[in-house]
Amino acid sequence: MNTSLTMELYNRLLDCYGEPRWWPADSPYEVIVGAVLTQNCAWNNVVKAIANIGDRLDPLFILNVGDAELSGMIRPAGFFNQKAGYLKAVTRWYQRYNFDVDIVKAEPLAKLRGELLSTRGIGRETADSILLYAFGLPTFVVDAYTVRLNERLRLDAGKGYDDIKRSFELNLARANHNNADVYNRYHALIVVHGKDRCHKKPACVGCPLEDLCGYN
Ligand code: SF4
Repeated sequence: MNTSLTMELYNRLLDCYGEPRWWPADSPYEVIVGAVLTQNCAWNNVVKAIANIGDRLDPLFILNVGDAELSGMIRPAGFFNQKAGYLKAVTRWYQRYNFDVDIVKAEPLAKLRGELLSTRGIGRETADSILLYAFGLPTFVVDAYTVRLNERLRLDAGKGYDDIKRSFELNLARANHNNADVYNRYHALIVVHGKDRCHKKPACVGCPLEDLCGYN
């Protein structure tokens, strides 16, 4: 993938779908919770789980509530016993920074990412989602929609998570767009595109990327 293609995709998706509303959450901590709960789970079930927690959605509540009670509240998100443990683990990580966004953001991104990846239940996509969407730090999120787009458009951005992430970041840096706002918008647009038409069975007619795509 080269820089001009990276920007062409971005601009076409933005022209087609407009400014995406993303990530749906009222606080950075809610983003963290949502990023854990959405693992292997449709977003509407995450919404139900978060609604069950309600106005108790606070790091100290999550740390202190019993495991069984927490599992019960997040049951709609699936894998609820595991995810209850993951939520407590990532909340303990946040506690190291006194639950303070500014203290987190003062730390080097690579250090934070390494800490999150060492946290129980936090993989690369979840770690990058937390860093980008909760804390506004510039790390590109790669998800299943990004991998699919890479394959279908034959972007040649690499095969694994890290290769694809590096390719997007490198090309956005070359275009002077290596900032969290662009990373946020770009990933959100890829998700919107994946949900809107680039499904497993894609709706290619009228796709804004059709002439660039090798799928058909
Ligand atoms: S042309 Fe089809 S396969 Fe290619 S990006 Fe568009 S919807 Fe996806």
